Parts: sequence; structure tokens; C-alpha cells
Amino acid sequence: MKAYEVVIGLEVHAELNTASKIYCSCRNSFGGVPNTQVCPVCMGLPGALPTLNEAVVEYAVRMGHALNCQIHTVCRQDRKNYFYPDLPKAYQISQAEIPLCENGYLDILADGEWKRIRVNRIHIEEDAGKLLHDDRYSGSLVDLNRCGVPLIEIVSEPDMRSSAEAKAYLDAIKSILLYLGISDCKMQEGSLRCDVNVSVREKGAGALGVRCEMKNVNSFRAAVRSIEYEAKRQIGILEAGGTIQQETRRWDDAKGRSFVMRTKEDAQDYRFFPEPDLGTIVLEPAKVQALRESIPELPGAKVQRYQEDFGFSPTEAMLIAEHKERAALLDACTELGKCKPKSICNWILSDVAKYSNDTGKPICETPLTAEGLTTLIEQVEKGVISNTAARQVFAVMMETAQEPLVIIEKLGLVQNSDRDFLEQLVTEILADHAKSVCDYKNGKTNALGYLVGQCMKRSGGKANPAMIRELVAKKLHE
Ligand SMILES: [Zn+2]
Repeated sequence: MKAYEVVIGLEVHAELNTASKIYCSCRNSFGGVPNTQVCPVCMGLPGALPTLNEAVVEYAVRMGHALNCQIHTVCRQDRKNYFYPDLPKAYQISQAEIPLCENGYLDILADGEWKRIRVNRIHIEEDAGKLLHDDRYSGSLVDLNRCGVPLIEIVSEPDMRSSAEAKAYLDAIKSILLYLGISDCKMQEGSLRCDVNVSVREKGAGALGVRCEMKNVNSFRAAVRSIEYEAKRQIGILEAGGTIQQETRRWDDAKGRSFVMRTKEDAQDYRFFPEPDLGTIVLEPAKVQALRESIPELPGAKVQRYQEDFGFSPTEAMLIAEHKERAALLDACTELGKCKPKSICNWILSDVAKYSNDTGKPICETPLTAEGLTTLIEQVEKGVISNTAARQVFAVMMETAQEPLVIIEKLGLVQNSDRDFLEQLVTEILADHAKSVCDYKNGKTNALGYLVGQCMKRSGGKANPAMIRELVAKKLHE
């Protein structure tokens, strides 16, 4: 078999969380009784006129800045014509020739390597309604609540070469949307969706292969699976001497495969033309600049800072930075300067992340504070309590919201670092376990761990484990 390369481009649709919809004053919120958050504008009744919600433009421009795009200060909106029962106007207001943002990029970290993915464009558009299929009715029902919900579509260049890179790109986009606070990114509610373009070519070939577009990809996991499926399918066709047809395919996540929706021959012609009911969008340069300055430190910059200032590995830095809440906690903790940044990182990625996952609570909704966490870690670093005891204290902190020092005192967890006492303890244990001592001297080095464990046990877990280990080793070599 020849060596092939997979070429991937992604179109991400993100619903913006503005208070109202894009062209009317209806509330923009998920759920609600069907067809209750609607008005003549978003229902597409004849004669109703749209008015652009300025917040949508601001949100999109902020995303444009975050993805290093050029911002078009003069642009327009266009009608994309197609018929579908969830689209009452039979056209969607979108942007065709001149999008709000263009020619950007996003640096992603995949398999430990940085890679720059070019962003072709970001444009604003309105969402369509939703078809509901219910067994109690013979037909389908239409809910127009989602009509007119603002969307941005972020279109990448075909710069990704593996499903891992696509996943890293999607994770990075989602993280930035959350940092900017412009989308809820709830995939299960459809507020983040993507279309996946896949082609394959022989390694080293210059021209791109024929691509297929996959729709209905509703989770990042589905994106990864659909890319892997599609690459395999296309390589299979080429290896059998066939040619790839350009087509739009529907991903069926339950079946784990894609199906043809339409081929190039009947590809849709959307007959784009300028939206006559809306004026040109004109942005003041000062406004664009102010929006640029409103961008917080983003995950990519945080990763580099964590690596340079704190010596985190790229993966550790990314696991913290891409998670807004973890990064906020780490930043607050390191600012206090009470303990090593690396220790804070370890705690956040282990116990804190685990607690947050297990309880389903974001960190900000738990009783954990930067002050509490750093005080706890400080006690471990100073040798006052052991790591094991610290875990115990952490559990109580999360349950009772008490101060770590109070808990340590109450549970009597202060570890014993009294050298004379510990030496006496080790002498006793070695005398009681002569066989293990003999084993050790005969080369069974794991007897050391056993003896340390016995010392810890007899001390009720309070002996300083590092000192015990050192003393046991010393005495065994005497
Ligand atoms: Zn409305």
C-alpha cells in the first residue's frame, strides 16, 4: 500500500450567547416551550424587517482578534437561499463575499508539537429552527425558537493532517470561546457544531485530493471518529483503483459510518445576493481597537508563560491553560507565592480536577480558594504533613469549607519529624522483621519498601515518610 496523507479542514458553528437574537429582540436562550421565543421577524412573516444586534458584531470581532484575523470595517450581509422546513423565510441571512473577519490563524499543540492552522474567515449568520420528531404525531413538528439565534462560522484552511490535530484545533477554539465568554459551547444543546472536510493524497503530492464534507458531526469525539472513518474509506477506494467523488455525507455516530447526502452533480446553488433589508456594517477603527484591548490573556499565551516561568511541560501547561477555571485558580495561587508552581499544577490536575469531575461542579462552585489550596500545599512542602494526610485534609476542606490548618490540628495529622524518635522506631521495626532485613541483604531490594511501610503503619501514618525511608536505608547498609 502507498503512503497516504489525510487533509482536514473544519467549519465550526458557534452559537453566541447574546441576550437577544441577531435580528429581533426575542430572548436568546436554549429550551423553552416550542415557538414561544418568536416574533414576526424571526418567524419570517411577510413585511417584518430585521435590525442587526450590535452585540453580535462585537462578539464576532472579538473572536476575530483572538484568532489573529484581519477585521473588515466595512462589510455586508447576504441572503443564502435554500428551502427547508426549519427555515421559514426560505433564506438564511449570512455573509458571502466579505466576512467580518478574514485571514487569521490559530497555533495548536498536538502530539507535543506546535502547529499553525490558518483561519480562512469568520462570518456572522442566523441559526435555523429545529425539527422535532415525535412518535405521537404522524409528521414532524417545527420549533422556531432557535430561528435568529446568532452564530459565527469559523472556517479553517485545510491545514490539519490527523484526527489528533483536528481534536486539538476544536479544543482550542472551544477554549477561546469560553475565555471570551461569547458562547456556552454546549455541544449537547447544539451551541457548538462542526462540519468536517476530509481528503487524502499520496504523501508528498502537491495537489489536494477530492474532498468530502461531513455534516451532522455533533461532538469532538464524533469529529475524530468521522475523520478516521472517512480517511480509511477514501484510501480504500484509491487502493482499489477507484476515484473519489466530491460529495456531502451525513455522519451517523451510532452506526459509526457516513452516508451520501448529495453529490457534486446536484450540489446546492445558494444564489447569494446582498440582503436588501439591512444596511452595510461600518465599524469605527477606535471601536475595533477597543475590542482588541478587551481580549484577556488567551490559552496559547498562558501555555507559553507557564512553560517559561514555571517549567511546566507543554502538556501540563495546556491541561491547565485550556481550562479557564483551572488557569484562574493556578494564576491566583502562584500570585500568593507560598509554594512551588509545579506543586500547584500537580494538585490542580489531580485532586482538584478529580473532585470537579466527580461532583460535576465547576471549581468556582466548590469551597476551594487559592488561599486554602496554597496553605495546604505549603504544609506538605514544609514537611508538616505528608502527601497522604494532605489528600485527607483536602477531602475535608471540600466537604466542610474549613481552613486547612484547622483541619490538620483537629485530625492530629502533623507528621513526626523528630529524628531521635524516628530512629528508635526504625530500630524496633528492623528488629521485629529480621527476615525482611535478611531478604534485603540477599538482594531483594523491594524489602525496603515493605519495611518503610511497616514503620509508617506503626506510627499511625504520622512519621515523616522521607525521613523514614532515609533512616531505613541507612540502617540496612550499616
Ligand atoms: Zn424574534
